[in-house]
Amino acid sequence: MDLKFDREHIWHPYTSMNNPLKVYPVKSADGVRIKLDDGRELIDGMSSWWATVHGYNHPKLNEAVNNQLNDMSHIMFGGFTHKPAIDLAKKLIDITPSDLQKIFYCDSGSVAVEVAMKMALQYCFSIGETKRKKFVTVRSGYHGDTFHAMSVCDPVTGMHEIFTGILPEYIFVDAPQIAYSEQWDYADFKQMFETIKANKDEIAAVIIEPIVQGAGGMRFYHPNYLKELRKTCDEFGIILILDEIATGFGRTGEFFACMHANVQPDIMCIGKALTGGYMSFAACLANEKISQGISDGKPGNFMHGPTFMGNPLACSVANASLDLLMSYDWRKSVKNIESIMTQELISAKEFENVDSVRILGAIGVIQMKSEVDMAKIQNDFVEHGIWVRPFGKLVYIMPAFIINDADLRELCRSLLTVVQMN
Ligand SMILES: *Cc1c(COP(=O)(O)O)cnc(C)c1O
Repeated sequence: MDLKFDREHIWHPYTSMNNPLKVYPVKSADGVRIKLDDGRELIDGMSSWWATVHGYNHPKLNEAVNNQLNDMSHIMFGGFTHKPAIDLAKKLIDITPSDLQKIFYCDSGSVAVEVAMKMALQYCFSIGETKRKKFVTVRSGYHGDTFHAMSVCDPVTGMHEIFTGILPEYIFVDAPQIAYSEQWDYADFKQMFETIKANKDEIAAVIIEPIVQGAGGMRFYHPNYLKELRKTCDEFGIILILDEIATGFGRTGEFFACMHANVQPDIMCIGKALTGGYMSFAACLANEKISQGISDGKPGNFMHGPTFMGNPLACSVANASLDLLMSYDWRKSVKNIESIMTQELISAKEFENVDSVRILGAIGVIQMKSEVDMAKIQNDFVEHGIWVRPFGKLVYIMPAFIINDADLRELCRSLLTVVQMN
């Protein structure tokens, strides 16, 4: 592979063109094994950023793509519809919270967040609440890299200072402090309540990742926070947007993380594992209140329509991925991953360089006391035969649900060996 060309011309995520971190050439991937060009095999701990829940190169997903390819890989969604899109909408409406009955397909998670925010604003304008233009969110959140999504990411890790004056300025509240399994105390929600109350007439929506804050800090918060948030949004007529892009499709132990709290959002974003990690695809689901509000008002049309909206290949593989998820006891698999990760990773709490360890569903997080040296630790992981990509102080894994116990234990043990040396 022409790594020199890659190094000189191709941007990789979150890197400088002058001094990029090393990239490892991949030849292929199968199940939870990533095969490098030089013949080495790595056990995958990342699921390609939450996405490949069934592992790589799955025969059922390959078959779905191949079959669809023979009919059509793409057709514009303006003026046309097709079976893969309809089948998928039926399934998604069935498995998501029952209020969500209208679906908007889009091409990536960030776009789904843009669509959700646009829906919230257009809803407010349509029903005549034209003063409602603000969003409220919590710190340590992550919602994507496009501009409006970025405006509700954590201001520090989202590097808001670079774009001051360009990014819309929204309202931030401290991140929830009480962890998932700790004792609930309403005091944790108080700042959110007071903030909403103080700005009640200007707020269009609250946007938040339910239960698990992903790329903004890998934090697991208490379900009662979400319950209180739903209650408060209802009290003040404010829309609740839940970003389930990372948490959806079983990752946290429930099909969607909002189900830990039994909360129904007005608008929900999904993505990442939607296609089993096969291709970029996402969706934004809304309840009747939102869709009616927008459609009854002026202009009545929802003004968004990506070129690749409802892409048939993506819909087909998403259908196959959902069928696969329904065909076995994924909940048991996630529980099993959770209990093995708990057994294997908990001892890292005693390491001198480790601050804390937390596990929820198929997510295992080791928070270090200081930021890791990315170049060194990444190399150490590869040398130990595993693929883990930390950021800042966070070293975390979220393996595919199909990982077997032996591979998972090996992944965890090698992880601890490397963590201890860094
Ligand atoms: C990854 C992610 C996004 C952005 O999705 P992309 O497909 O990368 O644009 C948005 N929200 C959350 C919670 C995510 O984890």
